[in-house]
Amino acid sequence: MLTIDLRSDTLTQPTAGMKEAMFAAPVGDDVFGEDPTVNALETKIAALFGMEAALFCPSGTMTNQIAIRLHTGPQKEVICHQYSHIYLYEGGGIMANSMASVKLLTGDLGKITASQVAESINPDDVHAPETTLVSLENTMNKGGGSIYTLDEVRPIQALCQEKGIKLHLDGARLFNALVETGESPADWGAQFDTISICLSKGLGCPIGSVLLGTKADIKRAKKVRKVFGGGMRQAGFLAAAGIYALDHQVERLKEDHHRARVLGQFLVQAPHVAEVLPVATNIVIARLEGISPEAYLQQLAAQGIKGVKFGKDLVRFVTHLDFGDDHLEEFGRRIGRV
Ligand SMILES: *Cc1c(COP(=O)(O)O)cnc(C)c1O
Repeated sequence: MLTIDLRSDTLTQPTAGMKEAMFAAPVGDDVFGEDPTVNALETKIAALFGMEAALFCPSGTMTNQIAIRLHTGPQKEVICHQYSHIYLYEGGGIMANSMASVKLLTGDLGKITASQVAESINPDDVHAPETTLVSLENTMNKGGGSIYTLDEVRPIQALCQEKGIKLHLDGARLFNALVETGESPADWGAQFDTISICLSKGLGCPIGSVLLGTKADIKRAKKVRKVFGGGMRQAGFLAAAGIYALDHQVERLKEDHHRARVLGQFLVQAPHVAEVLPVATNIVIARLEGISPEAYLQQLAAQGIKGVKFGKDLVRFVTHLDFGDDHLEEFGRRIGRV
């Protein structure tokens, strides 16, 4: 039976073209700064976003955590949505790596506004940790792959600039947002002090994320990466996959979004599904009724379909490079049987 694995967009296999690019990559010791392919990836993606510099790292958790370390520290505070990956899914790293405090905000679809941020900045007072960072996430994973537009970000950026607070973007799936809105990477780069982007999600690379920022921040980031144990040697084999993905596998994210919308329509009509959150990109979240996520996922597994529990009565499906039209049709056939 054809397995339909929608647990995550990290499950993809490198494409034939990507593998060829990887094997052909010239490499060197990147801790010495001498891997030409890593350097080419960093230069390419920094230029794309109009930012000064970039740093290739093993994971998006590491790029986020490095950024948090750059912009916070003991007795400092970061403001973010309560559904943020940096808070929920990075092992308590804000505390463990930076000894910083967090202020969690609520908001529809995992998004926050400038007025909420304004109300949450701590006063200059001996009792309060100093607010030094605001972190946004685009697309917003736990918000159902929801999108921030530039119009929503600009007032937050202006506020941060006025208050001398840094602004970080967890852009693990930023390209998913950009292919939908048509907004330019450079316009996004202009809004943030640092941006983290995953190459190993929809872009289909086996490993890797990049952190973008100023030359000075990326120089400091390299030292933090070292102490986090993230310095890699002939990493160009992996960076080559990133270059290939940027050249060949960005526009196709639209196909994932199209299939996610169709998948959402199948789910709305399926047994046990009370509602489907608005599908903005490649993430589909369904609310169940009369069955637990565990029991539902077990029934799906018997039909060769895999998803993940995403809350008390929620399940999540993520479309990706290895989920084609044949898988989509099969999903439609089988989902009615559970
Ligand atoms: C996947 C993801 C990350 C980073 O995850 P890694 O598995 O460490 O690469 C960060 N933020 C969001 C929103 C993600 O979905």
